[in-house]
Amino acid sequence: MNKFCLQEDYCKDNLQLNSLINHNFMQCKKCKLKCIRKGWYKNTQRYCCKSCNIYQQSNYIYKQRTEADTNMIITLNNEGMGISSMARVLGFAKSSIVRHIKTIAASIVSPFSHELNQDYEVDELQTFIQNKKKICFLMYAINKLTGRVIDFKVGQRTKENLSKVIDSVLFRSPHKIYSDGLIVYRSIIPAAIHRYSKHCINHIERKNLTLRTHLKRLNRKTICFSKNLLMLNACLKIYLWGKT
Ligand SMILES: [Zn+2]
Repeated sequence: MNKFCLQEDYCKDNLQLNSLINHNFMQCKKCKLKCIRKGWYKNTQRYCCKSCNIYQQSNYIYKQRTEADTNMIITLNNEGMGISSMARVLGFAKSSIVRHIKTIAASIVSPFSHELNQDYEVDELQTFIQNKKKICFLMYAINKLTGRVIDFKVGQRTKENLSKVIDSVLFRSPHKIYSDGLIVYRSIIPAAIHRYSKHCINHIERKNLTLRTHLKRLNRKTICFSKNLLMLNACLKIYLWGKT
């Protein structure tokens, strides 16, 4: 067995494919027609399918990401594991984990719901990016009844960024929006539906604690914060909306 090939099924497939190879041809993995020899990649013969026009090899030295790996990455991310820990557990390179997380996050779309006349809470959660001098905020809104995160934005606590979160709440025709006493909220939320006090946002304050407990990169007084805004955004997206 190839030492890089860890999955038994994967090896069986490769053995079957190897048996089909003669000197010049290989069976296409997609359409099962003949592929012709065409070029080399790192001392391995490459083949090209005439009908699909896809390049392929009889043997791959690197492990391919499977559906099970994707589910595992999502689970480990939601359990608060960092990139290095995931790389150690799954046997991938750190750069591969980063690439996979970005791909998974790109495939997740924010949930759209038809809820009307609901109550929402908005708040911000402070964290760091790259180093402790660079403070950044997670600004998000939850449905007061279900606790589900409607929308979030990661970045500086500016009126523009907060408006993006508030706009997606206003889009749902809310009954009331509860926030803390941050002055900028009063200029972007219509006064008729706005309630502000530090005592009326206990659901989202509890959610802050859950996020800080579940995701290591959001812990307080830590060195495990995100090094990149994109990765923080991707990991949050998977945690909040990518649960399997
Ligand atoms: Zn083909």
